[in-house]
Amino acid sequence: MQNSLWLYGAEPLSLNTLSSSLNCDVCIVGGGLTGVYTAYLLAKKGVDVVLLEANSSVAFGTTAHSTGKLTPQHGTVFQQLLTTFNEDEARTYYKANVSAIEQALKHVTVDIFQRADSYLYATTEQGVDSIKKELEAYKKLGIPGVETKDTELPFEVNTALKMENTTQIHPTKFTNHFAKLAIKEGAKFFVNTRVTKLIIEENRLITESELEVSFKSIVLATHYPIEAVKGLHLAKLSIDRSYLMATKTSELLKGQYLSTDNTSRTIRTALIENQPYLIFGGSSHIAGVVQNTQTYYETLEKEMIATFDLSKPEFLWSAQDPNTADYIPYVGRISASEPRIYIATGYRKWGLSNSLVAGEIISTEITSGKHIAQHLYSPSRNLFGKTFMRMLKAIGFTVSSLAEGYLMRIEAPKCTHLGCKTQWNEGDETWDCPCHGSRYDKFGNVIEGPAVYPLKLE
Ligand SMILES: Cc1cc2nc3c(=O)[nH]c(=O)nc-3n(C[C@H](O)[C@H](O)[C@H](O)COP(=O)(O)OP(=O)(O)OC[C@H]3O[C@@H](n4cnc5c(N)ncnc54)[C@H](O)[C@@H]3O)c2cc1C
Repeated sequence: MQNSLWLYGAEPLSLNTLSSSLNCDVCIVGGGLTGVYTAYLLAKKGVDVVLLEANSSVAFGTTAHSTGKLTPQHGTVFQQLLTTFNEDEARTYYKANVSAIEQALKHVTVDIFQRADSYLYATTEQGVDSIKKELEAYKKLGIPGVETKDTELPFEVNTALKMENTTQIHPTKFTNHFAKLAIKEGAKFFVNTRVTKLIIEENRLITESELEVSFKSIVLATHYPIEAVKGLHLAKLSIDRSYLMATKTSELLKGQYLSTDNTSRTIRTALIENQPYLIFGGSSHIAGVVQNTQTYYETLEKEMIATFDLSKPEFLWSAQDPNTADYIPYVGRISASEPRIYIATGYRKWGLSNSLVAGEIISTEITSGKHIAQHLYSPSRNLFGKTFMRMLKAIGFTVSSLAEGYLMRIEAPKCTHLGCKTQWNEGDETWDCPCHGSRYDKFGNVIEGPAVYPLKLE
């Protein structure tokens, strides 16, 4: 069962549940880093903001199940961006992330973040090739990075690409901190308040307990946008799931690491209640298609114990993140014809710094300003031609796994989003939907959308 290190030793915020209907200027649905940071920036500008969170506290979702690297070194993203975007656009992605991180850090106390160099490392020929290409992209874009073989890892690397002076955070404490600041600036936060229906034409939504919130604008910060809204192309998002674990160690690393080998691994340390922990992870697969997920934990556990000579992990968790076809998240006004609806999704497992960019873009758009990355991240950007093949892959996968689901999992309960057959996930004891990534606990309660209603279990 899921047991994230970031939920241990971090006091959940004590917040009220919505108990009567209300009106506001901006309603934010979702209290992960995206929703919370957007609420903070809007409240600071004097906007009347209400945030609704389905869980019993903020920062319980994907944010609390991440690795907590707050860095603009997003894997090998820059070589990938240069296949679709021009140099100015790829540079804008970098600058927007660097600037959003530094802006946010001005408002955070030093116990919540540490400076750490970010490394991509390779132990295979294919991994080296990828690092060489990324270094080329850095040179083209003027991104500071140095190639090195020197790391603190207990094994030799063939090469590594270091980006100096980046950041790592405790994601739950970081998000809670901004929630407190947002509330201090006047934002109203409600937990245990799941939104089940949007009535966009009437600028209102309905919660699970039949209360209404009327708004002028709405921000869907639900990780995967809930429900099908006009202009939202659900099939453009594919979803990847990966696995993490943490165990006690004796020393903190100075860097944070990600391998570019085909079997990618992520490594960092964190100090939790004065005890250093090693965090180790990887093993991605498309969400909702694997029953025996326990084997992913077992493989990682064996590798971690053998490589670092440490004991069995005390914390095991997994999480998923949606990907867009062109590697840039969808953030901002959903479409020109729906100026009141904003989304932020498709972070490709780099959603901590991108949540901060999202908060900046959405709060700027709502207050009629301009942000440097607004067009780049726009959900209505039209790159269909260039990304068509990649999208076809995602859509093709969804369709084939749907068919397989109907043939192979006759007994599985149907997802309450669009009726796909769910898949039982043994490792995490959840029902996972292969179509759009909804997840339910063993009792059928929604853990993750787009679904908003519980599963019907016989
Ligand atoms: C394994 C893994 C490791 C990662 N590591 C990193 C990393 O090191 N660095 C990095 O930059 N990124 C990382 N990411 C990505 C990052 O964690 C996410 O992209 C980011 O946390 C998303 O934040 P969010 O606020 O959009 O979503 P979430 O944190 O999931 O928040 C969404 C919230 O919306 C709420 N919600 C959903 N539906 C409703 C509803 N109907 N009504 C009310 N509330 C609702 C949910 O309960 C949830 O609290 C990682 C991702 C994964 C999967």
